[in-house]
Amino acid sequence: MRASAVEREREVWRVYARTGHVLNLVIVVIDTAYVVATWGTGPHRLFLLWLNLFAMLGLVAAIAVVPEVKLAASPNRDLIFAAWITWGTVLITVAASADGGLVSPMVWLLPLSVMFTAVAHRATVVAFSGGLALAGYLLLAATDGSGFAPAPAGLHAVYLLALTYAAVSATRSRWTHHDEQVVLHEELAHLADRDGLTGLLNHRAFHEQLAARLDRCNVDRLAATVLLVDLDHFKGINDRLGHQVGDEVLRTVALAITSAVHDRDLVGRVGGEEFAVYLGTVPPAEAHEIAEGIRTTIARIEDPEPLTASIGAATSRDGLAVANDLLAWADEAMYVAKRQGRNRTCWLRAA
Ligand code: GH3
Ligand code: MG
Ligand code: MG
Repeated sequence: MRASAVEREREVWRVYARTGHVLNLVIVVIDTAYVVATWGTGPHRLFLLWLNLFAMLGLVAAIAVVPEVKLAASPNRDLIFAAWITWGTVLITVAASADGGLVSPMVWLLPLSVMFTAVAHRATVVAFSGGLALAGYLLLAATDGSGFAPAPAGLHAVYLLALTYAAVSATRSRWTHHDEQVVLHEELAHLADRDGLTGLLNHRAFHEQLAARLDRCNVDRLAATVLLVDLDHFKGINDRLGHQVGDEVLRTVALAITSAVHDRDLVGRVGGEEFAVYLGTVPPAEAHEIAEGIRTTIARIEDPEPLTASIGAATSRDGLAVANDLLAWADEAMYVAKRQGRNRTCWLRAA
């Protein structure tokens, strides 16, 4: 996923976590009001008041230990939410039991976790919260001493099961659609950034990624190096052997360049038979070595004809690199290499 999509997703989870906290708070406040309003008419009022206080403290402690921003970015997000839901369901079950069992209105809080998780989670978490809610309900039914009729109790349990099933089904199809969209976006983004012939970065993507990397180097005030690799007398290969063979040679050269640089480096096809390489902030000796590596690797290509390339290299001054300028300087250096007889590398220390 691209950085902006990850940021958007985290924001959605942050808002979701905030909603959960607010919802929990509202439940505790309403529950406290209910306990106070029914003081003297229901069982275990004092215990229920303490339980609400305990729930409130638990909520505050959870927010303090894992703030919403941290929760949204955590790789263990699902686990944390599952623990939170378990904790809530246990509290609700204990509270409803103390309030008289199945006759308690608190029983109606049990399905809330299913609805809440269905808003954002994957099917497994929704199924887990549904299972917990059902287990809580069945436990209340098994220990119920209020004389609640078995028929409505069974009906409620089936209702909870049906709700969980609907929530799990809807969640599963939504996430399947989401995952397909993510894959599609990634494929499209990859295609949009790649040169169709060689698979290297295309002109636009190379420029964009170069500009982004240079921005980072400039912030750290580091010097960066760019190479422009132009094949020598390439037109002759097309003229003698045909355009298709020329295309094949371009693919071979793309592989040769990629094999001579680090995986982290940027390699693009920025013109017909012109390639650009961004070496980053490597020391000058290493940059020279890599440029020579590219030149000699290409010079070793013998099939279908011996091939050479001229390389123009430009290194920016610390913290002053602009993508277009750096490429223009590398281009200038490349033409010097051509003028000096080709099959060589020329360096320009950019202003
Ligand atoms: P120099 O040493 O001065 O760079 O000579 P050159 O022949 O390499 O340069 P020139 O600019 O005269 O010709 C570039 C050639 O590259 C012309 C064009 O036919 C060929 N070319 C550009 N794009 C493609 C392509 O996608 N496939 C093939 N097969 N050839 C291409
Ligand atoms: Mg050329
Ligand atoms: Mg050219």
